[in-house]
Amino acid sequence: MRHFCSICGVLIRSCAAEDDMGPPVEDLEWYQLIRVFYKEWSEGIAEVTGVGYLNTLNQPVVPMIFNGLYWQPNVYINNSVPYSGASPHCCTYLAHEACWRVLLDRTLYGNLFTDFVAVALAQLFWGASLYRQYSFIRRHDYGGSNEFWDAEGDPIEIMSREGYGHCAVEPSGFVSVEDLLSCLGPEVPVEIPTTYPINSTLRLGNGLEKFTKFPTEVMHMLLTWLHSDDIQQLRLASRPVASISHPDQLPQFFWYGRFFPDFGMWFAMPIHTKGFYDWRSLYFRVKRGLKTHSSDRLVNRKRV
Ligand SMILES: [Zn+2]
Repeated sequence: MRHFCSICGVLIRSCAAEDDMGPPVEDLEWYQLIRVFYKEWSEGIAEVTGVGYLNTLNQPVVPMIFNGLYWQPNVYINNSVPYSGASPHCCTYLAHEACWRVLLDRTLYGNLFTDFVAVALAQLFWGASLYRQYSFIRRHDYGGSNEFWDAEGDPIEIMSREGYGHCAVEPSGFVSVEDLLSCLGPEVPVEIPTTYPINSTLRLGNGLEKFTKFPTEVMHMLLTWLHSDDIQQLRLASRPVASISHPDQLPQFFWYGRFFPDFGMWFAMPIHTKGFYDWRSLYFRVKRGLKTHSSDRLVNRKRV
């Protein structure tokens, strides 16, 4: 039975290591490194393993402790972790370690409660009615990768042939602004959208209109905490808001905020940003990079 990642929907490829031959000696690809989310008894608490792999029989071989890595010399490896091929009553979900990392970047703002998030995710898998055979929600298309679950042959190779090659590229984060820029293609002048006259069709209630009495700096700070769609709605509803929120007028801290985990550009936030200030240009460059598909890594990271 083949296994697919419960987060991104791409195949988890097994590696050449046999059951009793010890861990694989070669470096594994990102789509071979896994964590297992499992529950031994139906009423039990969900558990999450450390980082392991699938052996040639497509069985998970993983350290039982959350912080364990299969290549560490003293880590206890158990290949009897319950997995869905072993028993019809045993629900187990597998995810790529790389996709798990993307989820942490998306949710944690850099804090360290990773094991709490892991158990919450495991509980979520059981709380949602997932399609047991594949460990998936069938109606979720996983950015197109679900088309290849039933493919004859290797789903990753077929995916690449059919124009979904980006799904097979590691969705790793960006170490620095330079790392991100190297994925965005050649630099061209930033296209900032032109101002359109606002034909206001919606109206704010009396209470909400007071919002627009704030000084511009305060309005900009408040806009920083709104999603882009909501800002667009607010611009349509309020001329004062529209008049202070053209992309040219919004300050750099607003654009910096677009790269925070809860906002639209979270997937492009580099780890090290010291000394970088032009977030407005970066925002529009990333947008253009996505539009022109300048980097499979960037596109896949957003998809995951
Ligand atoms: Zn994945």
